[in-house]
Amino acid sequence: MKKIIVAIDGLSSCGKSTMAKDLAQQTGYIYVDTGAMYRAVALFSIQNGWLKQNFIDEENLKKNISHIKISFRTNADGIQETYLNECNVERKIRTLEVANAASRVSTLGFVRQEMVRQQQLMGSEKGIVMDGRDIGTVVFPQAELKIFVTARAEARAMRRMKELQARGEKPDFEKVLANIKERDLRDTTRQESPLIKAKDAILFDNSDITRQEQKKNFLKIFKERIT
Ligand code: C5P
Repeated sequence: MKKIIVAIDGLSSCGKSTMAKDLAQQTGYIYVDTGAMYRAVALFSIQNGWLKQNFIDEENLKKNISHIKISFRTNADGIQETYLNECNVERKIRTLEVANAASRVSTLGFVRQEMVRQQQLMGSEKGIVMDGRDIGTVVFPQAELKIFVTARAEARAMRRMKELQARGEKPDFEKVLANIKERDLRDTTRQESPLIKAKDAILFDNSDITRQEQKKNFLKIFKERIT
């Protein structure tokens, strides 16, 4: 059976990664969370003091970008975790602070170039489900199946709230919503690879659909594409 590349793009917290993980699990494909990669770059920059409130030390980040090695490993519970230079950073990269910092460092051309290079290497054998903002347009424009996911900002903020609460945090809804809208604006208006739907991507609004329905839907589409 032929192996393909599945590219899933969309706005923040719209359920891309749930969809991508489900599909990877159903098909035995490798799942790559490219948002986690930009988050890892952001964490690296914060840890080195190169990213402050209104300032990014681009010179130092650029000098060191090739020293940032990001990988994914599956833990004992079968959950994929992100490693930055061999350190498990999964928890650290999931905060609102790092999410916001990730959307800032991801506007830099040299950061994107390096991440795209690493992502293309990961997908060179196909058999991969990759989610992000530019997968179907820049990383794998030749991907056999492209999905562009959207959902209402309020629905996305509610999902994000639940994720944060599940981790024991007490997030404020208005703050979470504002963070999502701020990231949407930055992601869709930046000069470098702004988030846009690839012409041949399937547009999918999942505001009012269950995870089970979504899973069934996309497995069917996937099967059509591999035959
Ligand atoms: O998807 P996630 O929210 O984890 O992504 C974090 C940030 O990384 C996003 O806000 C976006 O700015 C950036 N990103 C990107 N390109 C990707 C994946 C994520 O610019 N392929």
